[in-house]
Amino acid sequence: MHEIENMKADKSIVEEKILLGFDEVDGARKALETERAMVIQYEKEFNAKKKQVDDDVAIINDQLKVKESQRVRIAPEVRPDLLSRYERVLKNKDGLGIVKVLDHSCGGCYMHLTEQVMNELKKYEQIIACDQCARLLYLADDL
Ligand SMILES: [Zn+2]
Repeated sequence: MHEIENMKADKSIVEEKILLGFDEVDGARKALETERAMVIQYEKEFNAKKKQVDDDVAIINDQLKVKESQRVRIAPEVRPDLLSRYERVLKNKDGLGIVKVLDHSCGGCYMHLTEQVMNELKKYEQIIACDQCARLLYLADDL
């Protein structure tokens, strides 16, 4: 009789553990559903942002094609020595070969330009380059 009572008690404990296990599974399912909903939301946000970036890239590629065709049209009109100089600087300076002067500073390396350089620029007699970075300079008023 005593052994039977012990087995009943053990059975009761096992049943209680099984019920607790069901509760844990339910909790885990709810957490999983919450996580799934968050993942779906993140995917929607990601896809919206990706579409925006893809659209921006398409616009930039179109603009690039226009600029490249303009360059092909204009390049033959530029003196070959100047074009060669510009292209050399362009290649060595990460695609930024000609820069605007910003408040007496080079728009490429931001070094202060001497009065002599500023005066040379304002004479419009020759192409002036930054002494520091060699980028070709122009004044904003030139545009
Ligand atoms: Zn510079």
